Amino acid sequence: MLHILSDIMSLMQYKQLQKLNQHRLERCLCCGLPNPWLHGCYPRKADRSSNQGESLNPILIQRYYCPGCQKTCSVLPECLPPHRWYLWEIQQIAIMLTLKEASFNATAKEIAPSRHTISRWTARIKEQFKLHKDTLCGHFIDLGRHIGLCDFWQACLSIISLGAAMRLCHVAGVSVP
Ligand SMILES: [Zn+2]
Repeated sequence: MLHILSDIMSLMQYKQLQKLNQHRLERCLCCGLPNPWLHGCYPRKADRSSNQGESLNPILIQRYYCPGCQKTCSVLPECLPPHRWYLWEIQQIAIMLTLKEASFNATAKEIAPSRHTISRWTARIKEQFKLHKDTLCGHFIDLGRHIGLCDFWQACLSIISLGAAMRLCHVAGVSVP
């Protein structure tokens, strides 16, 4: 299971807080038992934009083990998607550009991911639109006025980042792209 730490917008912020040991998972996500055991970290090469020598990699993701239900939980910062290479920040730029009808090729020239990757992100955002919209309208009622995909996401991303929006969806049990 996965816990996403809110309000961590960058890898630098995450690393600084990690030095202060401020990420402890207070309760098991499965059974609620307090103080699950820190069960090591796994590295992710999440920083794909810094030059060599300035890279923040490896980004260490904490894993917890619960002695009550014997399950493990991971703790991710909000800026980092669960199953993808690129930060939400990059995906947000790509999705906004493609929704504004820039072609996948043109978008891929502006940012690092390939045309194929960007088309996959956009397809997933389209597939999940209704579920994402319903969840986010529960938090921001005014978003309900925006009917179409493009209109909705433009309005939503003017209020919160894609990472924050996806964390809200994750908490509500909606799968994030
Ligand atoms: Zn447990």
